[in-house]
Amino acid sequence: MSEYVLRTRAIGKKYGANFALDNVSVEVKRGWIYGLIGLNGAGKTTFMRAVAGLIAPTSGDVELFGESGEAALGRGRRRMGQSIETPAVYPHMSAKENLEVQRILGGVPDRDAAERVLKIVGLTDTGSKKVRNFSLGMKQRLALAIALITNPEFLMLDEPANGLDPKGIIETRELMRRLAKEQGLTLLVSSHLLDELEQVATHYGILHKGKIVKHLSAEELSREMRRYLRIVTPDAPKTVALLREAFGVTDVKAVSKNEIRVYEQLGRVSEINARLVAEGIAVEGIGVAEQKLEEYFVALTGGDR
Ligand code: ATP
Repeated sequence: MSEYVLRTRAIGKKYGANFALDNVSVEVKRGWIYGLIGLNGAGKTTFMRAVAGLIAPTSGDVELFGESGEAALGRGRRRMGQSIETPAVYPHMSAKENLEVQRILGGVPDRDAAERVLKIVGLTDTGSKKVRNFSLGMKQRLALAIALITNPEFLMLDEPANGLDPKGIIETRELMRRLAKEQGLTLLVSSHLLDELEQVATHYGILHKGKIVKHLSAEELSREMRRYLRIVTPDAPKTVALLREAFGVTDVKAVSKNEIRVYEQLGRVSEINARLVAEGIAVEGIGVAEQKLEEYFVALTGGDR
């Protein structure tokens, strides 16, 4: 069994003269929650549609569960669920009735499937309430339930937190975590906000103007997001040498010719400051700082938010 649920190789999608996707290679291993992050128009939906077979890429290829080629992709797509476009629901029916329709359309023999997915998404208490009277959060849950009715191994969700209030966003995160942990699902989830998927995604791909500009794991991201002691001085090399010698600092880097980041001994700010000054180093600024997710994202995408 392939450890890869999804692999795309250099997918491109051209609309007229514009590339909605340009050379997009993404790998998602079994058990991952892959966060596909990009601004509006970055190409997230186009990517998911290409994986789901709703559009044909102009170039490159898609592999699902370790296999590519038309027939294998057809088989692979039956093992996945997706909520990319708003699913067609019958507004005059209840959640359960809608799911029953989807169960039959999806050829799912298990008659308890609707109850099972209602429970997973937390919609069991909606009873006979008609879908047209559902809140946005409830509709999102129903869309997720529909994606789950065929019992998929791999789930793609396009902006599941869109339009939800903070409570709804937290609940959606919890649900994604549970799906991965308890149901063993692999997920690919898109968002235009990096912090929306923080602490949920195990891996990230940052998509910008149709290109993947960065791949990284959650550990790599948190390493990049660490707190650090920021020292601004025109004397960076001397400062680094002194920090190493006098304080035994090893995890330090000069990010520019006058800015140093020290990733350890953050509690010794005043002591370090006093020593630098005593050594005749001009300290123009010193303090504990933290890279913000949002800043990081803006830096990667060139700041044209
Ligand atoms: P959003 O969150 O706003 O949907 P996205 O990251 O999902 O953004 P896409 O919807 O994939 O972005 O769109 C990527 C680019 O491709 C956009 O510039 C969009 O205008 C263009 N595009 C998408 N579908 C088509 C189409 N059918 N015809 C022409 N251009 C398209």
